[in-house]
Amino acid sequence: MIPVKEALDRINTNCLPLEEIQLPIQEAVGYVLATDIEAHLDMPPFDQSAMDGYAVNWNDTIEQYTVIGVIQAGDDADGISLSPGECARIYTGEMVPKGANTVIQQENVIHEDNIIRITDGKAGLNIRSRGEQYTKGEKLISKGHILNPGSVGFIASNGFTHLTVTPEPRIKILVTGNELGERGNPLHPGQIYESNSVMLLAALKSFGFDAETEKVEDDLNTLKIAVARALDTADMVLISGGISVGDYDFVRQALTENGVEEVFYKVRQKPGKPLYFGRKERKVVFGLPGNPSSALTSFYIYVLKAIEGLTNRSEPFLEKTTVTLEHDFMKKGTLTNFIRARITGSTVQVLSHQSSAMLNAWRDSNAILIIPDEFNACEKGQQFEAFKLPL
Ligand code: AMP
Ligand code: MG
Repeated sequence: MIPVKEALDRINTNCLPLEEIQLPIQEAVGYVLATDIEAHLDMPPFDQSAMDGYAVNWNDTIEQYTVIGVIQAGDDADGISLSPGECARIYTGEMVPKGANTVIQQENVIHEDNIIRITDGKAGLNIRSRGEQYTKGEKLISKGHILNPGSVGFIASNGFTHLTVTPEPRIKILVTGNELGERGNPLHPGQIYESNSVMLLAALKSFGFDAETEKVEDDLNTLKIAVARALDTADMVLISGGISVGDYDFVRQALTENGVEEVFYKVRQKPGKPLYFGRKERKVVFGLPGNPSSALTSFYIYVLKAIEGLTNRSEPFLEKTTVTLEHDFMKKGTLTNFIRARITGSTVQVLSHQSSAMLNAWRDSNAILIIPDEFNACEKGQQFEAFKLPL
């Protein structure tokens, strides 16, 4: 049995970034950039008006200016050159013509026939100079950046059609357990409904990932074949159940016989003590305890960490925060406890129904409270760390 921190460290060193891919830029949000992005052009690419108004060859001694042209959206203003006393009608974003040393917004101009009088103005107004945002060749975004809508737009404004990113892992969920009935069918005596596959898939989807799911019998051969198939197509395999010490718990053996190297088995924690993590080449496998609450806790604490490694994410999916206990709480034993909890403001309440077989508390929880090994009688007002759950 290893401590939680050791388990996380081993996941960290064993989950290597997946081979980069090219994606159309419109599909790239949420992915991690695998290359630096350099500017392909100056931005703006030309001196640009920041207002609807008049581009003016301004001189403090001149009161009236003759309008010699109109510059509309997308016009090349190269053909226009303003001499002293001249101006051109111009709109926001359009190219400022040669000879203009200011743009006067239209609210400060009286326009009669082809003459304007300026009520308020001076040189040097409202021109976005070529390259003031960035210049060609400049690094815009570093490799490792997690693409957000704004950064996608920032890169798209350079004309990029595709981006090189670290892909999402292909994930396979295998659920084991002969006692598991299929939702939609009546249960036989001795059966319970299978719920871990849909719960783990929902958890993945809440972070933007997808998976294939498959139900497998508690039979060594069947399991071995299912594991082999999963390792063929997936980067990450999540197996639910069958990892404890029961006579029908064949997951560990099926993994070993498929050449999966055990990185750890059993962690000093509650829930989820019989957690397994292994690796075959660059592929990683979790044996998640079948108890639903253990499986989901392991997902948040460990599977997300592994996905961070595979996708090369620099920021963790879950935010850690310090919270204050709203009430006394007694933790039994010497394992790290991951507690279903509810944060309100800066305080936290431990929810009822903490058994690893029960999901009740997840309904109301918005956090996983971490009570380290050495704590037992915890008091109201004491501070602990907690992971905030996004959904
Ligand atoms: P196991 O880890 O296979 O020993 O399972 C531990 C407990 O979790 C047992 O009570 C199982 O019935 C339950 N369990 C295992 N897999 C699932 C599942 N996919 N959905 C719901 N409960 C499960
Ligand atoms: Mg089982």
